[in-house]
Amino acid sequence: MEPLEKLKLLSANSNLESAEDTVCINTPPRQKSIYTHNAILPNGKRIKLLKSLLSSFCENNCFYCPFRAGRDFHRETFRPDEYARLIMNMYQAGIIQGAFISSGIAGSSVRVQDKLLETAEILRYKLHYSGYLHLKLMPGIEFAQVEQAMRLADRVSLNLEAPNPERLAILAPEKSFNSQLLKPLEWVQEIRRNHPSGQAWKKRWPSSTTQFVVGGAGESDNELLKTTQYLYHKLGLSRAYFSLFRPIINTPFENHKPIPLKREQRLYQASFLMRDYSFSLEELYFDRHHNLPLDIDPKSAWAKKHYITYPVEVNRADKHELLRIPGIGPKSVSTILKARKSHQFKDIAELGKLGISAKRVAPYILLAGKKPPLQLALF
Ligand code: SF4
Repeated sequence: MEPLEKLKLLSANSNLESAEDTVCINTPPRQKSIYTHNAILPNGKRIKLLKSLLSSFCENNCFYCPFRAGRDFHRETFRPDEYARLIMNMYQAGIIQGAFISSGIAGSSVRVQDKLLETAEILRYKLHYSGYLHLKLMPGIEFAQVEQAMRLADRVSLNLEAPNPERLAILAPEKSFNSQLLKPLEWVQEIRRNHPSGQAWKKRWPSSTTQFVVGGAGESDNELLKTTQYLYHKLGLSRAYFSLFRPIINTPFENHKPIPLKREQRLYQASFLMRDYSFSLEELYFDRHHNLPLDIDPKSAWAKKHYITYPVEVNRADKHELLRIPGIGPKSVSTILKARKSHQFKDIAELGKLGISAKRVAPYILLAGKKPPLQLALF
């Protein structure tokens, strides 16, 4: 089969198996290319990213996954050299600026990881590919394989899928949470901390991410965020991705209910509060089922309970206090702190010019000792 024909088969649905390190905007169904995704890199650069599996064969039977062994559909496999050349050709033609490489697991995780590494080695060492590369780590691989992946990639990821061993047993009973999934992510952080980064591509170690399947195992938001907090603070992950469970036909979970999109949004908001706003898990509000309320964002929920701390004087508040104001994010806080050295904010329109929603922040702030008007139709 022609490489492009294979790519059609292997890139379809590949995001179900691949934790995306970039913010991926799914390719619209009628877009001409089905192989590429618009992505935003951590530095804000927008790129076209090729996302595909090296192989859609898998010997595992994860209950929610379209690639599970028991499912009947046409499967394909790239040879490492074939896939590396395809990526390089698309890169040189300007069709993509980066690639994400993942795979189903056929013939052991260690063997599949070797194939992924071989593809990356051909790209970097033989074809001198200098584009963005995100390499997937397979469950249960060896320390040396993690280290080699980190020498070659801009980002590595391993999907935890579930927040703890009990929930993983419901989704993917063949996998071990601690020894196969968490361990390689611990090694990533160990290598970043203790091994000289001179061995790495671009002389710096790659960032790392993971992905959870939200709602597939009946887990609560609290369980997901507890693990997320650990990953951010102890294992140095750049981002946890929350992918809503979707029932796939001909899987054991085909009759399970899909999960509302709002839940994913609330999980991202809460995880960013823990990563970028110095919120702890204990400060977030959960309902009696240990889930985030869907009708209010987590920061506003906190502000509502702590109304006594408001209003906050924008011209005097420290970084921590500014970060707690609903509607103000880390970038705006930096801009406010910088501007305040030579300027006093008196009018809420000035905050509007910084991209801050005046309507959102007005109830929580003072500007030069005065409460801004709540009727903000003019802004
Ligand atoms: S290991 Fe599990 S999640 Fe990954 S492709 Fe195979 S069946 Fe799907």
